[in-house]
Amino acid sequence: MPELPEVEVTRRGIAPALINNCISHFVVRFPRLRTPISPEFSTLRNLRVLSVDRRGKYIIIRTDQGSVLIHLGMSGHLHLVPPETPVIKHDHVDIVIAGGQIIRFNDQRRFGLFEWFAEGQDPYKDPKLARLGPEPLDENFTGAVLYERIHHFKAPVKKILMDNEVVVGVGNIYASEVLFASRVSPLRRSCDITEKECEVLVRNIQRILNASIGRGGTTIHDFSGSDGSPGQYVNELKVYGRKGLPCCICGTPLEHAVIGRSTYYCPECQS
Ligand SMILES: [Zn+2]
Repeated sequence: MPELPEVEVTRRGIAPALINNCISHFVVRFPRLRTPISPEFSTLRNLRVLSVDRRGKYIIIRTDQGSVLIHLGMSGHLHLVPPETPVIKHDHVDIVIAGGQIIRFNDQRRFGLFEWFAEGQDPYKDPKLARLGPEPLDENFTGAVLYERIHHFKAPVKKILMDNEVVVGVGNIYASEVLFASRVSPLRRSCDITEKECEVLVRNIQRILNASIGRGGTTIHDFSGSDGSPGQYVNELKVYGRKGLPCCICGTPLEHAVIGRSTYYCPECQS
């Protein structure tokens, strides 16, 4: 599933083709995603793009006529392709840019989202976005903020870090990696994490997410960026998917537990 770095890689990949340019029209081939795509998309013409933003795992294309809200779901990709590119299976939507280039949405599992907000409707006020926690890469996201948001929960810290209402974008893979880098056991109760540990966690959340963005994201299943290239951060993972392999610091075999989802950690280095 694309996580925050992959969505940010996608945003950075498509933004230069869109900003200060026009979306000529949309081609919707298959509207029956989990939430059906509104027929309104087929009527839109010549939208001047003002910005391409990200909030959590949503991409928001703001135009002079309204905003497009996009979520990649479980398996979605947005690829920037030349106009003559043949359509393949699961190519559900084209964003056709003035000049001919296309941003093509392919989504095998159809959990993605394409939603139109006409002028005057604010996508940020949509319930899906309004309840999201702070952005982890925002400079206002500090250890004190994280501590304030997690210290009243009794659930394991791994599970709480993955809660989008606590902080967005720390998905399953990154939660294991951040906790390992911070030497905090994923099994610890959230309320037992100190403010000092929260500062370390925030530093590692920011470092690891930024490193993953810099490497084009993490391709575990089949994510690829807007140019179709797979993410390389998978080669940097220290614990995720490495059950039984030696810890890179102390050599102890790494362990696996199910906390929300698959969790990997070193029983020696993390306490
Ligand atoms: Zn270790």
